[in-house]
Amino acid sequence: MPAVEPQLLETRKIHYVRLVVNWINLSTPFGLLISVIGRAKLSKGPQGLILADGYKFSFPIASAFTVGNVIITASNFTRFTARLPQGLVHEARHSTQWAFFGPLFLPLYTLSMGISWLWSRDRAALNLFEMHAGLDDGGYKRFVRKPRNSKRAQERASLTDATTQLAHSGQVASTLRTEVETMTQEPTNPESTNPPSTPVTDHRCD
Ligand SMILES: [Zn+2]
Repeated sequence: MPAVEPQLLETRKIHYVRLVVNWINLSTPFGLLISVIGRAKLSKGPQGLILADGYKFSFPIASAFTVGNVIITASNFTRFTARLPQGLVHEARHSTQWAFFGPLFLPLYTLSMGISWLWSRDRAALNLFEMHAGLDDGGYKRFVRKPRNSKRAQERASLTDATTQLAHSGQVASTLRTEVETMTQEPTNPESTNPPSTPVTDHRCD
C-alpha cells in the first residue's frame, strides 16, 4: 500500500458500512470485473478500499477512477499519490458516493458532468460529484465566473473616455474663444456706458 494521508489511516464504522453496501449494490463486484478485464493488479487499500493499478485501457480519461470500493489507475499508486497527495482521499469520497447512489451513480455522474461541461466547458468544475469529492484534492480546476457583460462594460468605458475628451475639448474651445474675444474687443467709451449723473426731470407745466 502506498503512503496515505493521515485521514485515511483510521478505519471507522462508516467505512465498514460503505464496504458492505457497495458489495450489496454490486458496485464493488462491478469495479473488480473492470479491473480484471483491464488486467490491473489488485492490492489492499486503506479503509476497506481495494487498489487496482496498471489498468491497461485509456478509458475513462482520468488519472484514477473509482467503482464501488475499487480505485483503479493506469499508473501505480505510489506515483499517483506523489502527484496528487490527496488523490486517494478524493477517490475514497467517490466510493462513499457509490454507497449512496448505487447503480444510479453512473447516470447521475454522467448527467452532472454534462451540465458542468455546458456551463463551464470543464467536465469537473461544476460537476456536483467532483465538487463533493474535492476539486483541489482531485487536481481539478475551480470554476471562475467571467463577467457576462464584459463587452458592454468595455463599450461603456470607451464611451465615457470619449465623452470626457469631448468635454475637455469644449473647455479648451471655450477658453480660446474668450481669449480671442478679449483680444479683438474694441476699446469702450466710458461715457457711453456711464449712466447720466442727474436724473432727467420733466419741466412741463400742466
Ligand atoms: Zn473525482
